[in-house]
Amino acid sequence: MKKGEIVTEQQFFDQVKSYIKSEESLALIRKAYDYAHEKHEGQFRRSGDPYFTHVLSVAYILATLKADPQTVSGGLLHDVIEDCDVSDEEFTAIFGEEIHGLVDAVTKIGNLKIKDQAEYQAANHRKIFIAMAKDVRVILIKLVDRLHNMRTLKFQSPEKQKRIARETLEVYAPIAHRLGLAEIKNELEDLSFFYLDNDKYHEIAHLVENKKSERDKQVKTMIEEISAILEEHHIPFRIFGRSKHLYSIYNKMTVKNKRFDEILDLLAIRIITKTELNCYEILGYIHATYKPIQGRFKDYIAMPKVNLYQSLHTTIIGIDGKIFEVQIRTEEMDQIAERGIAAHWAYKEGQSKSRQQKDIVKELEWLKAFEDEDRDASHYMNDIMNDIFNANIYVMTPKGRVIDLPNGSTPIDFAYRIHTEVGHQTIGALINDVLMPLNTPLKTGDVVSIRTNKNSGPSEDWLKFVKTNNAKNKIRAFLQKKEEQERAEFAKAGEQILKDEIKRRNLDPEILDHKKLETVAPQFQVQSVNDLFYSIGVKSLTVQALIEKLVKQEKKELDSSSLQSVLEKNQAKRRHTNTKTDVYVKGIDTMKIQMSSCCKPVYGDEIVGYVTRGSGIKVHRRDCPNVRSEKARLIDVYWNEDHDNNIKYDTEITIYSKDRAFLVSDIVTVIAQYRATMLSVNIVANRDDLTATALIGLVVDNKDHLETIMANLRKVDSVMDVARAIK
Ligand code: MN
Repeated sequence: MKKGEIVTEQQFFDQVKSYIKSEESLALIRKAYDYAHEKHEGQFRRSGDPYFTHVLSVAYILATLKADPQTVSGGLLHDVIEDCDVSDEEFTAIFGEEIHGLVDAVTKIGNLKIKDQAEYQAANHRKIFIAMAKDVRVILIKLVDRLHNMRTLKFQSPEKQKRIARETLEVYAPIAHRLGLAEIKNELEDLSFFYLDNDKYHEIAHLVENKKSERDKQVKTMIEEISAILEEHHIPFRIFGRSKHLYSIYNKMTVKNKRFDEILDLLAIRIITKTELNCYEILGYIHATYKPIQGRFKDYIAMPKVNLYQSLHTTIIGIDGKIFEVQIRTEEMDQIAERGIAAHWAYKEGQSKSRQQKDIVKELEWLKAFEDEDRDASHYMNDIMNDIFNANIYVMTPKGRVIDLPNGSTPIDFAYRIHTEVGHQTIGALINDVLMPLNTPLKTGDVVSIRTNKNSGPSEDWLKFVKTNNAKNKIRAFLQKKEEQERAEFAKAGEQILKDEIKRRNLDPEILDHKKLETVAPQFQVQSVNDLFYSIGVKSLTVQALIEKLVKQEKKELDSSSLQSVLEKNQAKRRHTNTKTDVYVKGIDTMKIQMSSCCKPVYGDEIVGYVTRGSGIKVHRRDCPNVRSEKARLIDVYWNEDHDNNIKYDTEITIYSKDRAFLVSDIVTVIAQYRATMLSVNIVANRDDLTATALIGLVVDNKDHLETIMANLRKVDSVMDVARAIK
């Protein structure tokens, strides 16, 4: 029967009966035939043919490949679940689990639609195809299904023709090649070529046709010559000319960049003989008669290709200096060459069930046993095994992009593979249009759609079930960053609390010097200043405790430095600053006004002016005993109401205290805390009652500032009283 013709019932059963003899198997195929015929009744293809013609053609081609009865039945039934509303239960009840498994897988692969060409990745689609098939018979049915659809593709729209042709060329033909199904592969390629690049197809077809009669004549002459030689030596043989398929010529012209007339194996002859020994004998006679071209001899008998192909190849210079490619092999090798794995599985009645197990993993393992020293070949084989069977699953985006993931991967792994942000924002997953928990393990063929929310973020729980390191790392990084952000916020809040407290206590902001904070950090069991702020922010440390510690630290520093040198520095600084006053006398603005050096008033004190002889007015505190009796020379003076805050006042205080160690440094610390500059310290210790009197000179802003300092000095341990000094 010719390609493209409609198969009759008679032709089909003749083909089946040519190799299937058991009543039981024939009954099964008959049942499948009748069932499919009934179920597809009334359905038509675009060609106008009854739909049943399609499934019958598929089953017929499978029978020509000597597929087992289940596979042939599967071919007849491959569209009934999808197209005839037959339930899985009904199907299984009638045809059993095995055939249901085949048809179910074929249906599922058929549903893998490439919706978006931009997302299309041929290599991944091949993998998903093979991984979903599991059983090699499923691939066989699917390949043959596609073959028949390609043969009838002319009835589809040009757009669909191109899409299906591309998929066939990139997904189906390579799988056929991988399984050694040369006939199917070649036909799929030529049909795809026809639809994908029709001009080129016709151009090459024309080139091939052009000198066909000339070439045919050359081949015929050559066949006669070789036949004569082999007959003379009594070697059994079949010999015939062989034409290359158009797509392979096209490939040689484009990939190898050759002109049509440069392609060497256009003239090709194949010799089929009985034994391996015959093959080598024939080769010997041919090489003895014709000059072989160096580097073109290949012994695929000693070293079969990974898809089991065996043959001897040689290229010789034949009649009229024409170049011929000659292939020599046994009948069995020829079967394998044309039908690959299908020839190996060819159904033989009486075989044990285990031999008929069509587990694709086992079959590929079996193929693997044929590996030889050919490094590339074993590399190739390992790649297939690794790619497909190393616990990978293949799932798809709604647009049809294939994503491969390790076994056990979840929608979260999938989401992170799509894009990091998609992963972070995942809030739900639709698996095959059903909302499923995020920890659901995905299966090959699942279509996964991720729901996201911009304001959402990964959860720590995800780490318990995600499978890929990619997802794990990204979740961890996100959580860590989030924690850091939170820490930073708490630290910022803590720092503010600290600053507010310093301000409230009217302490010197210098106390928050980074180095100072750094030195106290270890005392709170934290590493850094930021940790200190954070501790305050989260209230694991009170701001009071920290300030106390800082104050003490300050004190220690003062103890260790020389008080005298500090004072000298302060005095020097003070001499350079403007010591103008902020006092005026009503009605007089030319008088020189100075602060008295006995009671040293500060802004805010009640004051009075004393008119000196020749040195202007001296300002005293109103209660200064030095001027109280001089009423005649006193004059009212006033503080400026718009006081200049930059003006500072020198003054002195007296501290009465019990004498003890570190008294001075405690006093100095308080003064420093309240941002007053100390100019002098004079301590007189009284040995009789163990008391000490300290006269402290300092620079303050105003009366409030001074009184705050005095009040805090009174709180210092051992201090009995603090008073303004008057000389
Ligand atoms: Mn079909």
